[in-house]
Amino acid sequence: MIVVIGSGPAGLYGALTASLLGEKVKLIEENEKLGGTCVLYGCIPSKAMLHPLALKYSLERIGKKVDFTYEELTKLAQDAINRLSKGVEYMLESAGVEVIHGKGILKGKEVEVSGQVLYPDKVLVATGTLKPEIKGTIASDDLPYLTKDFNVVTVIGGGVGGVEYGWLLHKVGKEVHIVEKDNLLLPKHDMDLRNSVTNHFKRIGVKLHLRTEAKIEEGKVKLSDGSEIKSDIILMSFGRKPNLNGIESLPHDYWIKVNEYMETPLKDIYAAGDVTGSFTAHEAIHKGYIAGLNMKGVKKAYDGTAVPKVIYTMPQVAYVGNTDRGRCVKVELSSLGRAITEKRTEGFVKICEENGKVIGGVAFSERAEEIISLIALGIKLKATVDELLDFHYPHPSYLEIIWEILRRFKLG
Ligand SMILES: Cc1cc2nc3c(=O)[nH]c(=O)nc-3n(C[C@H](O)[C@H](O)[C@H](O)COP(=O)(O)OP(=O)(O)OC[C@H]3O[C@@H](n4cnc5c(N)ncnc54)[C@H](O)[C@@H]3O)c2cc1C
Repeated sequence: MIVVIGSGPAGLYGALTASLLGEKVKLIEENEKLGGTCVLYGCIPSKAMLHPLALKYSLERIGKKVDFTYEELTKLAQDAINRLSKGVEYMLESAGVEVIHGKGILKGKEVEVSGQVLYPDKVLVATGTLKPEIKGTIASDDLPYLTKDFNVVTVIGGGVGGVEYGWLLHKVGKEVHIVEKDNLLLPKHDMDLRNSVTNHFKRIGVKLHLRTEAKIEEGKVKLSDGSEIKSDIILMSFGRKPNLNGIESLPHDYWIKVNEYMETPLKDIYAAGDVTGSFTAHEAIHKGYIAGLNMKGVKKAYDGTAVPKVIYTMPQVAYVGNTDRGRCVKVELSSLGRAITEKRTEGFVKICEENGKVIGGVAFSERAEEIISLIALGIKLKATVDELLDFHYPHPSYLEIIWEILRRFKLG
């Protein structure tokens, strides 16, 4: 028997995999709803809230106006959360996984939950992360559940979360301030991306406080330049920590250490997902799946190369691999037929190659998610520039920009 702790993407796919391979699986979840951070607080509600705003953005491009209230967005988020959480329940039930609600406490290989002790052969720990808890602030997890009226928001941090939620809140009509200690948004990312995204945010009217540090004092945001922002809401956009509650006995430095088979240093104890130091649901899903296979004796290593990452703004931001070396070609969206027809000409796509193979790409563009996923597939399959150039990209599509860049690699 296998016990899985946590019903987020990692726990879900670990449990499903082991169960479908014929193992008896019990999944423990302390939240009354299933689905973890992704379904209840993260990926799912945020995309439900983003969708109407993406429509608003698209209509504005062709001269029409539509508006949504924050309440309308949270209502859509709640619908999506409830539907997806039920979906997780159904998936587990159909695969024969027994769900036990309660806090799982790991003691050696035994797991205590709601007064009973389970004696599994193997355990998968998929407890995820905890949101930052700083007095006077909220985290992005709280946004789908906000009921209070607010107008001015200060977002602390201009990284991935700050950019995604700063854009969303701006688009729903809030006055948004982003405080970032670096000189551009998206620290540690590609410089072309950082410049374009920062300029975009300035142009659309998000108030950026760059090269600035923030201190929260009595619910107020005090800036390192001596000024103060009076805001209704302060959103901490970074600072998640591994959730070690109940699994303290497992060796850890900060994140739980695992090898490529998702094995922790303790025999028969596996871990997967955010608690192992990755931050996307698709990595959590893969790690959970790999853990499920290995727990059932199907030896397979996790391969985290070429994982596409997306920031859901409009235009979208997406990136994969390396864009700080090799030969890079950047093409503006304004040269692309489809972008012109839809008046979505802002942004660019950049791809880099080394020794005839694509090594990375960044996009700040419409459909960046699809463009970068296709580039990621090329990297993963170790395809050459010539091979990728041989592929037919539909016309007129946003994907064609890939072919245009590859053509320039070949012919200059
Ligand atoms: C606001 C926000 C937006 C996001 N948007 C995206 C996105 O668009 N795309 C993307 O790829 N990723 C996104 N993410 C990240 C994504 O949510 C995580 O990568 C993913 O949820 C990690 O899955 P997990 O299974 O490792 O952990 P989690 O989803 O965090 O699940 C862990 C589960 O374990 C349970 N648990 C913890 N300890 C115990 C215990 N002792 N006993 C019982 N149960 C326990 C928790 O209650 C929880 O349900 C977002 C995250 C946030 C916060």
